[in-house]
Amino acid sequence: MSTYPRSDQPQLFVTKEDVPGVCPCCGRQNLKRYPVLTEGGWWMTTKCQNCLFSVQRERWSSLGSIALLTDLL
Ligand SMILES: [Zn+2]
Repeated sequence: MSTYPRSDQPQLFVTKEDVPGVCPCCGRQNLKRYPVLTEGGWWMTTKCQNCLFSVQRERWSSLGSIALLTDLL
């Protein structure tokens, strides 16, 4: 259930850290922490990889080597 749909865009590398804990939305233990780019800039976000619920978000300064993600809301 974790396969990405194929697209014409190259797959960019993003560092995703495993985060211990349970998603308050779906109850799965499938949390990852990684940076996302939004209108408001870069955020380090902890998201459930099952339902994409944002568990936590904090300001994050770009380090310059992080790829765009496509899971913007
Ligand atoms: Zn979830």
